[in-house]
Amino acid sequence: MTTYWCEHALLPDGPADAVALRIDDDRITGVTPGQPRQGTVLTGLVTPGFANAHSHAFHRALRGRTHSGGGTFFTWRERMYAVAQRLDPVSYYRLARLVYTEMVLAGFTSVGEFHYLHHGPGGVSYSDPNALSHALVAAAGDAGIRLTLLDTCYLASGVDGTAPEGVQQRYSDGDADAWAERLAEFRSGSPLVRVGAAIHSVRAVPAGQLPVPVEWARAHGVPLHAHVSEQTGENDECLAVHGRTPTGLLADAGAVTQDFVGVHVTHPSETDIGLLGTAGAGVCLCPTTERDLGDGIGPGRRLADAGVSLSVGTDSHAVVDPFEEMRGVEMHERLAARARGLFSPAELLAAGTRHAHLGWSDVGAIAPGAQADLVRIATDTPRTAGSEPLGVPLSAFASDVRDVMVAGRWLVRDGRHKHAANPATELAAEIKELLR
Ligand SMILES: [Zn+2]
Repeated sequence: MTTYWCEHALLPDGPADAVALRIDDDRITGVTPGQPRQGTVLTGLVTPGFANAHSHAFHRALRGRTHSGGGTFFTWRERMYAVAQRLDPVSYYRLARLVYTEMVLAGFTSVGEFHYLHHGPGGVSYSDPNALSHALVAAAGDAGIRLTLLDTCYLASGVDGTAPEGVQQRYSDGDADAWAERLAEFRSGSPLVRVGAAIHSVRAVPAGQLPVPVEWARAHGVPLHAHVSEQTGENDECLAVHGRTPTGLLADAGAVTQDFVGVHVTHPSETDIGLLGTAGAGVCLCPTTERDLGDGIGPGRRLADAGVSLSVGTDSHAVVDPFEEMRGVEMHERLAARARGLFSPAELLAAGTRHAHLGWSDVGAIAPGAQADLVRIATDTPRTAGSEPLGVPLSAFASDVRDVMVAGRWLVRDGRHKHAANPATELAAEIKELLR
């Protein structure tokens, strides 16, 4: 049992001062505000660990390298595919370990890896058909972050079911039954790893095969994620081929339940918003990626008002910073709505700590019985100085994170990751080698 004393802490009912925390093994067992200093002192603001509900680890290699020449989501995708073509289990492990380390340093204590690069060049399976999944598990283990491996079904290159082309062959298991068979063989062997299912998008899984991942997720009681309506073109193609929106098509296949998380949902119809809200489904917004790719501004407020729970993700890792994502949810809609305060700070914090979208229902609160995932934010930096405690998540940046605990174990102390002495140097070297 360890006792900590927090100068300020964000508790479920709001900010509190002089909070004594008791932690037994990996769980919080006592939370008492207004206590005299005792145990290990944590100055600044202590918050729950943040949840990164949508990640493609290898996209990190493109940061700061795609801003010349303009283009669209699809021209960016060509660059991304070129990176995917080069990865193997060893290089993917080395890159992902550093990407996950960056996430932990930023205050993320869980990540949902939307994993679709399954096979070797030409779509040939490795001797271990889950070799790339195991590379991600090893990377997360070394970085110390909770991993929900969202094993992604990807079978086609268009809404009409056209066969995968080029590097997309590495994503495909051939058909949905083969996807489920490969996934059935996967074992992580770690209490900090869970499995979820994902449908890449209605572009990548033919309508007739959607029920397989839907049923797999239901049978195993795990979350089901899918990219939904990130581009208006996806809506147009889906309507032309199926006479349904992507959300409508997924709902017809039984996907849209309270265990469903739509990723982006930037361009839903009013009917789509109603379907998602009535089901109590989730939506993961990725504001820094959506702005980087020029996707548009999603209707986060209308989704939340309809009954959708929101989370955030760093997706392409153009930015890895939970505060930027939480702020982005509010600030982007301010620009569209020309009004302030669409989301309360408490709502933004709830979105930033929604580990339940990744199957971790007991993570994300400083409360007795919760898993001990904590982040200490310095409140004496040029960025955070003078902010009230509830405003700190709206003024802080990842560089203001000083300490990070996952499952009762400190991984970051005073801004340094315990298992990575020079992550920036190593990351630069890995990206240089990968793109060589
Ligand atoms: Zn994505």
